[in-house]
Amino acid sequence: MRVFPLSVPMHGTRVALVGAAGLAARKLALLAKTPADVTLFAPESSPELTAQIASSMAHPEFCLTRVPGWPDATALRGFALVFIAVEDRDAGTELARFARAAGAFVNVVDRPDLSDFHVPAIVERGEVVVAIATGGLAPSLARFVRAKVEAALPSGLGFLGELARRLETNLRHTLPVAGDRRRFWEKLLHGPIGQRAQAGDVAGAEAQALADLARGTDEAPRGMVHIVGAGPGDPDLLTLRALRLLQAADVVVHDRLVDPRILDLARRDADFIFVGKKAQAHSMSQAAINALLIAEARAGRNVVRLKGGDPFIFGRGGEEVDALKAAGIAVSVVPGVTAALACAASAGAALTHRDYAHAVTFLTGHACGEGIGEGIGEGIGEAANAGGRPDLDWSAFGGSGQTLAIYMGALRVDGLVARLLAAGRPSEEPVLAVENGSRPEERRLWSTLGTLAHDLGRFVQDGPVLLIVGEAARQRVDHSDCAIPVEIQEFIHADAEITG
Ligand code: SAH
Repeated sequence: MRVFPLSVPMHGTRVALVGAAGLAARKLALLAKTPADVTLFAPESSPELTAQIASSMAHPEFCLTRVPGWPDATALRGFALVFIAVEDRDAGTELARFARAAGAFVNVVDRPDLSDFHVPAIVERGEVVVAIATGGLAPSLARFVRAKVEAALPSGLGFLGELARRLETNLRHTLPVAGDRRRFWEKLLHGPIGQRAQAGDVAGAEAQALADLARGTDEAPRGMVHIVGAGPGDPDLLTLRALRLLQAADVVVHDRLVDPRILDLARRDADFIFVGKKAQAHSMSQAAINALLIAEARAGRNVVRLKGGDPFIFGRGGEEVDALKAAGIAVSVVPGVTAALACAASAGAALTHRDYAHAVTFLTGHACGEGIGEGIGEGIGEAANAGGRPDLDWSAFGGSGQTLAIYMGALRVDGLVARLLAAGRPSEEPVLAVENGSRPEERRLWSTLGTLAHDLGRFVQDGPVLLIVGEAARQRVDHSDCAIPVEIQEFIHADAEITG
């Protein structure tokens, strides 16, 4: 370790920034994130520097004085840190000499040989700052590492820093022994309060932490529920937040539509509870699922409620949020890639291609009554038990220029087609059906409204099916020159003219 990382408290620290306009603007952008007292020596101006000065002034704790000229050694007295941002080597050497004579700690941009300290690559999460140093030898290596750290650190980490700052005084007072404070923090960071802060609810986490402190440690712990979208199946389509929550879960409550490869990503020793549903099959009622989530959270566990696609698209996520809130349980919602987006992307059907469509509507076929597909075991997710069957005003979906993405439609295809024809869609209207979108078993069918019922009856096997109706469904990706081997089964009905 040829360099030693230090962190400098910047509140009120006197810093000189000496520089040519462009280089100085970039350093100023970094310094303006701190509460330092900065004097900028910049003889020339540039639009970039002027804009940066203006936006720096907007930072409430930052203090900036501008001097329009180069400094001499006298002018640099009293500064703790001096940053020199000039292209000219001789000027850099001379300014560094002045600064050092004035007793400052000096950094010359891109000149590690002239610098008392280097500026590391930084990953910032609010109060939490990660510095990556390579001794000034390989900035590209530092950037490479930074990209990895950026991806690995949750964006909510900064909220934990903010929580630490808010709790600091109270904690020192309530738990004067350092070991007690450390235990308190360890429990908080790994438990539901830490999760709540990371989800952005710092005030709620603070109130919960203060309540825990006031009660002492004997009280029952309180858990939290994260309602997480698992996406359509392919684990690559999971969000980073979903992955992190899965890895911190005590218990994962999941549906049938959640791909097993995603469950494999969860913490090994988490408990897995299956509450899945399938059409016409016996399943756990929504009320029982709500009660389970509440009970697990009340037992102090960190619960991930994992749902296929997005929790708020035909996923009954809203009802679970309401039930949890009513029970006083902290809850967060993590979006997922919904089936319509995943199926459209993999088949190459741009849902709002400007040549074909100006709107896209997500619909459920659930209201259409039973059709030909009674025997087809379509994965219909949770909405199957939705209770009442709200019928829609189908006349609103007849117009051209609007794409329909229909969930849970394959079982009721006769009723669905009848309603769309009655609404004014032509029987030659293109329809794309995607079964098991984004999974290894993905299959696609291109058909038309007139032939859909017939084609679908032969096409559908056992997986969830999404229908895309409208001109957008005419497009198709040509995989012939694709580097990744694509072995997706595709069926094209003779009447379905497609492009791509
Ligand atoms: N919340 C989910 C939808 C649940 S409703 C989401 O946002 O995707 C269940 C319906 O979603 C299924 O009947 C099917 O129409 C559709 N669906 C879910 N996953 C799918 C997949 N991988 N491929 C095709 N359709 C899918």
